[in-house]
Amino acid sequence: MELQNEKSLNFIEQIIETDLENGKNGNRVLTRFPPEPNGYLHIGHAKSICLNFGLGIKYNGQTNLRFDDTNPVKEDEEYVDSIIEDVKWLGFNWDGEIRYASDYFEQLYQWAVQMIKEGKAYVDDQPSELISQQRGTPQKPGDESPYRNRTIEENLDLFEQMRSGKFQNGERVLRAKVDMASPNMQMRDPVMYRIMHAHHHRTGDQWCIYPMYDYAHGQSDYIENITHSICTLEFENHRPLYNWFLDQVANGDRPQQIEFARLNLNYTVMSKRKLLELVKDNYVNGWDDPRMPTISGLRRRGYTPESIRNFADRIGVAKRDNVIEFGLLEFMVREHLNKIADRVMAVINPLKITLTNYPDGVTEDIELVNNPEDPNSQSRKLPFSKHLFIEQDDFMIDPPKKYFRLSPGSEVRLKGAYIIRCDEYRTDENGKVTELLCTYDPDTRSGAGESRKVKGTLHWVSADHCIDAEVRLYDRLFTHEAPDSDKDHDFKEFLNPNSLQVLANCKLEPGLKEAAIGTKFQFQRIGYFCVDKDSTAEMPVFNRTVTLKDSWSNSTN
Ligand code: ATP
Ligand code: MG
Repeated sequence: MELQNEKSLNFIEQIIETDLENGKNGNRVLTRFPPEPNGYLHIGHAKSICLNFGLGIKYNGQTNLRFDDTNPVKEDEEYVDSIIEDVKWLGFNWDGEIRYASDYFEQLYQWAVQMIKEGKAYVDDQPSELISQQRGTPQKPGDESPYRNRTIEENLDLFEQMRSGKFQNGERVLRAKVDMASPNMQMRDPVMYRIMHAHHHRTGDQWCIYPMYDYAHGQSDYIENITHSICTLEFENHRPLYNWFLDQVANGDRPQQIEFARLNLNYTVMSKRKLLELVKDNYVNGWDDPRMPTISGLRRRGYTPESIRNFADRIGVAKRDNVIEFGLLEFMVREHLNKIADRVMAVINPLKITLTNYPDGVTEDIELVNNPEDPNSQSRKLPFSKHLFIEQDDFMIDPPKKYFRLSPGSEVRLKGAYIIRCDEYRTDENGKVTELLCTYDPDTRSGAGESRKVKGTLHWVSADHCIDAEVRLYDRLFTHEAPDSDKDHDFKEFLNPNSLQVLANCKLEPGLKEAAIGTKFQFQRIGYFCVDKDSTAEMPVFNRTVTLKDSWSNSTN
């Protein structure tokens, strides 16, 4: 039993359990999720959120939400707000107040001053291009800056002047004095501070020097007493620098950086820079466009927090990069919606039917269970009348064999109601079918005892009672499995021109009139849909969340 448990631990859990066994960090577990507020969160971030908060919960610890807001030029309050909303929506609570790296600017500055005093940092007057040229290559050691050995006094004075705004952007930087010959390029005197005369969304104009990620990140972890600092694999070779910076200030417990493989999904891009480009240049309708892999887009599309958490769980934590099929995410969404979504009748490409032998002006109530997957499900009554709509593609003039839907002379059951036969069809001048004339068999009402059986069952709505709606069908945003992997083509060249199809003339059962924004439904035989924020009382709008795996065209009743 115990062995099995051990086996199912992922490598990060193994590290944490070993630390707990050894009493490291006073048996505390404190993780953090550290987004930079320079865009909306995407499904990759959701993976990181589920991992970090999940570990906090599993080990009776906590998780901090910290904004890594060290680059005012790219960051914005709007992004902060959206990130907070997304983390909450995914169902997680952070420990105490929200934190900001900018809250630590003074401390970070003081530590930098201390490092200068200890001969561990210096001001470099060279432009950044020259500094990069001197960094060398992994095979060739870098060249030392001519300013590397200026005196401590001069460094302190220049750094002070940097802070007080004496220099223009890019005129000077503060660099850590580590090792220009290190085989690890990250260790070749990395920049710690740069000059940026820019307004910060929290600190205003208080600062014109801003700490670089590598310096700010680990020290912020240390300030917050983080125990396990989990990041993605591209930071693996930053780990020695992370530890070097901690060496300069830490005593006692210190955070441990652990890297895992980032989530990659096919048919999508996940870099915030690229997602921003899609938004800014109007390739999509905003960050929460339901085709976007952003958390807000997925939410608007109708994905549930449960399905995203289940997905994160299912893919697990890997040490090597891999690509996950988008279909797996859709599978998890379908699995959850199947349990919670009410089944409703919706005709998205309507074809009119008249039941010639059904009395005029009569309405019957057809009772249907809302969700057969839910043992406590309620049922509802649906009006049935002489005039109905079915889907256009549920009728064919000249059907192939095994077509169990409607065709001239054939019979189908209307779900929950009667068996009908198609006697005649009408077309317009282009030969398009515009109306079916059918007869119903009054002895075949569903639920009224034995009835004969037919192979096809169709969904329908009563034309006299249904409501009009707009339905938006989404497809993949990209036609290429890895849109940003092709060196010769910009990722935008692979945008799917048919990723959005708007159906403006849909007919839904009347009960959907006032469905609240975000409510999820299964449109029977079509897919899962949810009410979009563009909905109005006059014109409800539904997004297709995901298609159904299979239709029930072969079932009866
Ligand atoms: P991007 O590369 O999309 O710009 P980022 O890594 O720069 O994203 P941050 O805001 O710095 O974005 O990310 C916050 C946290 O989310 C980091 O800890 C980062 O490692 C994690 N993260 C980002 N993308 C992924 C991903 N695809 N899979 C797992 N974790 C991710
Ligand atoms: Mg980052």
